[in-house]
Amino acid sequence: MKCPYCMEFDSRVVDTRAAGDGIRRRRECLHCGRRFTTYEQVVAALHIVKSDGRREAYDRQKLLNSIRLACAKRPIAMADIERLVEQVEDHVYSLGKAEVRSEVIGSKVLELLKELDEVGYIRFATIYLELADLEAVRDEIDRLLKEKRA
Ligand SMILES: [Zn+2]
Repeated sequence: MKCPYCMEFDSRVVDTRAAGDGIRRRRECLHCGRRFTTYEQVVAALHIVKSDGRREAYDRQKLLNSIRLACAKRPIAMADIERLVEQVEDHVYSLGKAEVRSEVIGSKVLELLKELDEVGYIRFATIYLELADLEAVRDEIDRLLKEKRA
């Protein structure tokens, strides 16, 4: 989301609430520190295209639950998971499309989860990804093990 004051893109969400059929977010610009409000109408309209071609309405709670499951018993605050979902949504909305493939969401989750928690990352990958992606995860596990040994 672009800051209306300094036009920079980095902002953090300080408050999120439902507004009509969209979402109203209060944001703070990480560049100039000023706050601004955004309304996201696309939330209600966003559809996910699954790998078998089926479409379903984007469900924030479902995504939240899947990440929570992958991070079960890990030292991660619920607020961190919510922030991660917000970052994923920001990414998806920035594409400006009414439909996105589920891999787009999955790979963004993985990218962010990798920074947050390695175990959660690997669990999410093994539960939700398909074989081709699992190969990439195996490479990742090998890399992590090598790092630990070094
Ligand atoms: Zn700014």
